[in-house]
Parts: sequence; structure tokens; C-alpha cells
Amino acid sequence: MVMSKAEWRRRRRRKKLIQRYALLAGFCVIALLVLIVLVKLITAIFHHRGGGIIEKAGDVPVKQSLLSISRYARCGEKLDSIDEIIIHSNNTVGKTAQAQRDYYESLKTKKNDNERQSMHFIVDLDGTIYQCIPTDEIALAIAGTVKFHSLSIEYCITGEDGSMSAATYTSLCKLVATLCKEYKLTEKKVFRHYDKNQVSCPLFFINETNWEQFKADVKTARNGKKVAVTDAPVNKVVMPHGSSEESGESGESGEGNSGTETTEGGEGS
Ligand SMILES: [Zn+2]
Repeated sequence: MVMSKAEWRRRRRRKKLIQRYALLAGFCVIALLVLIVLVKLITAIFHHRGGGIIEKAGDVPVKQSLLSISRYARCGEKLDSIDEIIIHSNNTVGKTAQAQRDYYESLKTKKNDNERQSMHFIVDLDGTIYQCIPTDEIALAIAGTVKFHSLSIEYCITGEDGSMSAATYTSLCKLVATLCKEYKLTEKKVFRHYDKNQVSCPLFFINETNWEQFKADVKTARNGKKVAVTDAPVNKVVMPHGSSEESGESGESGEGNSGTETTEGGEGS
């Protein structure tokens, strides 16, 4: 049978049309796949942020060193909200953040209900920042209701007066500034452990001049400006002089308060 010219044209047109639709369908499938991958990627990023992990404080990377879940340090309970940031200091000159973090981790094997402690972050002698607990979980740092609404940061000290290295000071400023920005807080919501429980922690900042200067420096960091430690009254801040032997197992300075505080339903010191 001989195909008429008109029929041949019709078939050719239909073939071209089918090809065009096939091409379009192919593009649609590829576009859909790309979209799915993008959505998954974005969700993963947001999930990660929502997971309470702080990756950077200004230009300082935050080292993840999460504690394992136990009722003695990282109890795994969720924070209701983040309304306050509370500053603590270690009470052993030269003790490193790693040593302090390991102390918190060791509490799970001690199983002592009077010794339950932990911090969200520890700022090391050289300014390295460690995250020990995700920011959406409770740290066992302060007894009372604030524990459900606050983040706790501990810094390592280089002097008996609770002073710290310049590197520690600037990292602490950057970390507090980052957390303020992340959780929409200002310096008015930054407190000393001393403000909450009248313990001598953090010793260096019990001096009001030092404390006011620190909050001013946090504001400077929060506004994206460089913190000039040498201009601050904390210029007696000294550089680390190496780790000394640990002179005790206790955590941050609570001057005998930590033991009693931690007993309150295990809510921390
Ligand atoms: Zn404290």
C-alpha cells in the first residue's frame, strides 16, 4: 500500500510531537530529582542547626565533643527555651577544657547522685571552644528553674584570681555573642553563676568592672567588631602557662556549693 503524501506528513508531525513530549517529560523528571535533592539538603542543614549544634563562634570553629547520655552529666532532657546565658569558670589553674570535659564524662561511671554536673560549652586555655551538650538540651550547671531556660559556658583559668588568657577571653566573647545572635538575646540576658547562686563563680568576673567590660566586649563582638582585649580593664589577663596537675576532681568553682546543688533532683550545680 502506498502512503499518501498527506498521510506521511501527518505521521511525521505526530512523531515529532511525541519526541517533543518525551524530551519535555525527561526535563521534568530531571528537574523534579534536582528539587528533591535540594529540599533534602536544605532540610538536613536546618535539622542540623535545630539539633543544637553550634559550628562556629565568629571565626572560631567549635569543636564537637558531646558527652554521652547519662543522668550524671548529659541527661538528654530538652530545654523549654533559651532565655539566658550563664558564665562559669573552672576552679583549677591550668586545667584544660579536655580534662574538664573528661571529668564530666567520667561522672557516669561514678554514679554519685551528689555529683552531677555538665556545661554546654567549655572555652579552653588557648581559646579553643568545646561543645559538650547540644543547645536544645539541659546542662546540669545550676540548680533551680533557670536550668530549663539557660545555656551554660565554662572557661578555663590561668590565674588564681580566676583570670584567663587573652585567647580564652576573646573566644568567650565571640561564643556569647554568637549565642546571643542565634537565640535573639542581648547582654542583659548574660549572667554570672554568682548572680544566680551567690557563689564565687566566675571569680574574675565578680569584680563589677571586669564584668561590665566583658558585657561591653560581647556587645562589640555581637556587632561584628573586633574585641580589643588590651584596651579592657581585663588586660591583666595572662597567656596560658601550660597545664598544671589537676588538683581536684571538682568542676567549676562553686566553693562547696556544687555538692549540695547537684542533689536537688539531680538538677545540677
Ligand atoms: Zn559556676
